[in-house]
Amino acid sequence: MEKVRCVYCDCKRDYEVIDEEYVYVEDDMEVRYGGKKAICNVCKHEIMIDEIEDYNQVQFEKAYKEMNGIISVEVINQIMEKYNIGKRSLSLVLGLGEITITRYLDGYVPTSKNSKYLKKY
Ligand SMILES: [Zn+2]
Repeated sequence: MEKVRCVYCDCKRDYEVIDEEYVYVEDDMEVRYGGKKAICNVCKHEIMIDEIEDYNQVQFEKAYKEMNGIISVEVINQIMEKYNIGKRSLSLVLGLGEITITRYLDGYVPTSKNSKYLKKY
Protein backbone atom coordinates (compact mmCIF):
# COMPACT_ATOMS: atom_id res chain seq x y z
CA MET A 1 0.00 0.00 0.00
CA GLU A 2 1.22 3.45 -0.85
CA LYS A 3 1.98 5.80 2.03
CA VAL A 4 -0.34 8.75 2.49
CA ARG A 5 0.03 12.01 4.29
CA CYS A 6 -1.21 12.06 7.88
CA VAL A 7 -2.04 15.59 9.00
CA TYR A 8 -1.37 14.72 12.64
CA CYS A 9 2.07 13.26 12.06
CA ASP A 10 2.70 15.88 9.36
CA CYS A 11 4.38 13.34 7.12
CA LYS A 12 3.63 10.32 4.95
CA ARG A 13 2.66 7.21 6.85
CA ASP A 14 1.57 3.65 6.33
CA TYR A 15 -2.04 3.12 7.24
CA GLU A 16 -4.54 0.42 7.98
CA VAL A 17 -8.08 0.21 6.61
CA ILE A 18 -10.75 -0.90 9.04
CA ASP A 19 -14.51 -1.43 8.79
CA GLU A 20 -16.49 1.31 10.42
CA GLU A 21 -20.19 1.64 11.20
CA TYR A 22 -21.31 5.12 10.25
CA VAL A 23 -24.46 6.95 11.24
CA TYR A 24 -25.42 9.94 9.18
CA VAL A 25 -28.53 12.04 9.68
CA GLU A 26 -30.27 13.10 6.51
CA ASP A 27 -33.84 14.42 6.23
CA ASP A 28 -34.38 13.66 9.94
CA MET A 29 -33.53 10.02 9.33
CA GLU A 30 -30.65 8.14 10.82
CA VAL A 31 -28.90 6.39 7.98
CA ARG A 32 -26.62 3.60 9.20
CA TYR A 33 -24.13 2.07 6.85
CA GLY A 34 -20.98 0.00 6.92
CA GLY A 35 -18.11 2.00 5.55
CA LYS A 36 -14.35 1.96 5.78
CA LYS A 37 -11.84 4.10 7.58
CA ALA A 38 -8.11 4.57 7.11
CA ILE A 39 -6.05 4.81 10.29
CA CYS A 40 -2.51 6.10 10.56
CA ASN A 41 -0.27 3.27 11.76
CA VAL A 42 1.70 5.60 14.03
CA CYS A 43 -0.71 8.05 15.66
CA LYS A 44 -3.95 6.04 15.04
CA HIS A 45 -5.79 9.13 13.77
CA GLU A 46 -8.10 8.88 10.79
CA ILE A 47 -6.60 9.70 7.41
CA MET A 48 -8.79 10.98 4.59
CA ILE A 49 -8.31 9.04 1.37
CA ASP A 50 -10.36 9.80 -1.74
CA GLU A 51 -11.06 6.17 -2.66
CA ILE A 52 -12.31 5.42 0.83
CA GLU A 53 -14.48 8.54 0.88
CA ASP A 54 -15.94 7.48 -2.47
CA TYR A 55 -16.57 3.98 -1.19
CA ASN A 56 -18.34 5.35 1.88
CA GLN A 57 -20.44 7.66 -0.26
CA VAL A 58 -21.64 4.70 -2.35
CA GLN A 59 -22.45 2.68 0.79
CA PHE A 60 -24.32 5.64 2.22
CA GLU A 61 -26.40 6.13 -0.91
CA LYS A 62 -27.27 2.44 -0.99
CA ALA A 63 -28.42 2.50 2.64
CA TYR A 64 -30.32 5.73 2.08
CA LYS A 65 -32.17 4.34 -0.93
CA GLU A 66 -33.02 1.14 0.93
CA MET A 67 -34.42 3.10 3.87
CA ASN A 68 -36.60 5.11 1.54
CA GLY A 69 -37.74 2.06 -0.35
CA ILE A 70 -36.08 3.43 -3.44
CA ILE A 71 -35.45 0.91 -6.14
CA SER A 72 -31.86 0.10 -7.04
CA VAL A 73 -30.29 0.05 -10.48
CA GLU A 74 -29.78 -3.73 -10.17
CA VAL A 75 -33.50 -4.30 -9.70
CA ILE A 76 -34.37 -2.11 -12.69
CA ASN A 77 -31.93 -4.13 -14.78
CA GLN A 78 -33.56 -7.34 -13.55
CA ILE A 79 -36.99 -6.06 -14.59
CA MET A 80 -35.70 -5.23 -18.07
CA GLU A 81 -34.15 -8.68 -18.37
CA LYS A 82 -37.25 -10.44 -17.10
CA TYR A 83 -39.48 -8.75 -19.65
CA ASN A 84 -36.75 -8.50 -22.25
CA ILE A 85 -37.33 -4.82 -22.90
CA GLY A 86 -35.11 -1.76 -23.07
CA LYS A 87 -35.00 1.40 -20.99
CA ARG A 88 -37.24 3.45 -23.24
CA SER A 89 -39.80 0.69 -23.66
CA LEU A 90 -39.93 0.08 -19.91
CA SER A 91 -40.48 3.79 -19.27
CA LEU A 92 -43.32 3.91 -21.76
CA VAL A 93 -44.92 0.67 -20.55
CA LEU A 94 -44.95 2.09 -17.04
CA GLY A 95 -46.44 5.33 -18.24
CA LEU A 96 -43.36 7.31 -17.27
CA GLY A 97 -41.48 9.82 -19.36
CA GLU A 98 -39.53 8.18 -22.15
CA ILE A 99 -36.11 8.87 -20.58
CA THR A 100 -37.13 8.27 -16.95
CA ILE A 101 -35.52 4.83 -16.66
CA THR A 102 -32.44 6.04 -18.52
CA ARG A 103 -32.06 8.77 -15.93
CA TYR A 104 -32.44 6.29 -13.04
CA LEU A 105 -29.75 4.09 -14.49
CA ASP A 106 -27.51 7.13 -14.75
CA GLY A 107 -27.81 7.61 -11.02
CA TYR A 108 -30.76 9.96 -10.84
CA VAL A 109 -32.73 9.02 -7.71
CA PRO A 110 -36.25 7.77 -8.46
CA THR A 111 -39.13 9.15 -6.44
CA SER A 112 -40.60 6.89 -3.75
CA LYS A 113 -43.82 6.71 -5.72
CA ASN A 114 -42.14 5.49 -8.88
CA SER A 115 -39.98 3.09 -6.85
CA LYS A 116 -43.02 1.45 -5.31
CA TYR A 117 -44.57 1.24 -8.74
CA LEU A 118 -41.48 -0.39 -10.25
CA LYS A 119 -41.10 -2.85 -7.38
CA LYS A 120 -44.44 -4.41 -8.22
CA TYR A 121 -42.92 -5.86 -11.36
ZN1 LIG B 1 -0.36 9.94 12.00
